[in-house]
Amino acid sequence: MYDFAVVGVGPAGARFARRAAESGYDVVAFEQGTVGTPLACSGHVSTDIWEYVPETAKADLFQNRVCGARFHIGGPDSAAYPFYKREEISNVIDRVELDRTLAGLARDAGADVREHHTVVDVDERHDEVALTVSHDGETETVRARMVAGCDGPTSRVRRQCGLPEPEELLHGVLAFDSAPDDSDFVDVHLTAPRFFAWRIPRGDAGVEYGLAAPPGRSVNELFEQLTDDYDVETEHFCSGAIPIGPPERVHGRRVFLIGDAAAQTKPFTGGGILYGMTAADRAAETIDPGDPATLRDYESAWRSALSREIALGHWLRRAYSLPEPVQRVGLRALSGEIGVHMDRPSSFFSRDHLRKVLGL
Ligand SMILES: Cc1cc2nc3c(=O)[nH]c(=O)nc-3n(C[C@H](O)[C@H](O)[C@H](O)COP(=O)(O)OP(=O)(O)OC[C@H]3O[C@@H](n4cnc5c(N)ncnc54)[C@H](O)[C@@H]3O)c2cc1C
Repeated sequence: MYDFAVVGVGPAGARFARRAAESGYDVVAFEQGTVGTPLACSGHVSTDIWEYVPETAKADLFQNRVCGARFHIGGPDSAAYPFYKREEISNVIDRVELDRTLAGLARDAGADVREHHTVVDVDERHDEVALTVSHDGETETVRARMVAGCDGPTSRVRRQCGLPEPEELLHGVLAFDSAPDDSDFVDVHLTAPRFFAWRIPRGDAGVEYGLAAPPGRSVNELFEQLTDDYDVETEHFCSGAIPIGPPERVHGRRVFLIGDAAAQTKPFTGGGILYGMTAADRAAETIDPGDPATLRDYESAWRSALSREIALGHWLRRAYSLPEPVQRVGLRALSGEIGVHMDRPSSFFSRDHLRKVLGL
């Protein structure tokens, strides 16, 4: 019997598998497809990302540096309200390569990472969890003392174990124009209901156009409107769900959720790569597979790391739905040089940032 079975090898699953294997546990991790595919993510992350991969990986992952965002209430021709820092705030990275790198690190640490293995059933018992795993048309039963559900926004582990669903699932879409662009501002358009559309320069990898909003027909229509407004033809269209939460509880008797499965995302951007890996670290530090009581320690550890930021992120997101005249006044008042960290809305209220806003 394994100590931990991990379902899903995205950033959260790969990070947890690596950290648990490094602690000496016997870890198996199942990925239903090929690690990193299909792509449904911008890979726009704070520079904290480099703490999670070796220095040598940077050359393969890095695509562009970003120093700020231009906010627009309308399309590309509308007034722009820039928010920026003098140094880089964030990076655009190759998300497929990130997942491959993180999975490689998990394997190097001793985790048994198996691609093209789909977990089709989860049976949480008193003293173990039995997973039914399908591979090449065959199924096998794998037993583990605990199971980490890292299987993304529409998590099967979450559903089968009766854990609460996220309060909301947004629909995100994106596509690419191949013209290289290494400029250092992203554009954010508050044209989608309760969220936004974006343009991200990705260096030699071209430009990404994307949009997220509550599901409905309007998502694709608004995306077409965005690319028409920019007068571009895009290719490699992809889409995915963005969970907004968090739910009340992300653990059961012997099962726990990490990453998008636990809706550990930023409500004001939908970004979840770094929050998921932060929670994965808390899980690896607190959970003893022989002691189900430690699942409660994980629950409090990840909430103490992230729940304040998530709560403040909900407040920031409310600004996307304010009446346009109020948005205009707010953006005009707050735009300019900022002192915020993109993963920490609390930094918006820091003394440094408030001094900047007040011009002190
Ligand atoms: C359009 C869009 C743009 C985004 N842009 C950004 C961004 O710029 N920055 C950012 O930080 N975040 C972004 N995100 C969010 C980010 O993609 C997620 O937060 C992140 O991928 C979550 O990682 P995860 O490991 O929890 O889940 P995932 O990356 O979804 O990984 C889950 C894995 O589980 C596998 N799996 C699922 N079910 C099973 C099963 N039954 N058996 C075996 N394997 C299974 C899947 O194949 C997948 O590989 C974006 C999301 C979308 C939709």
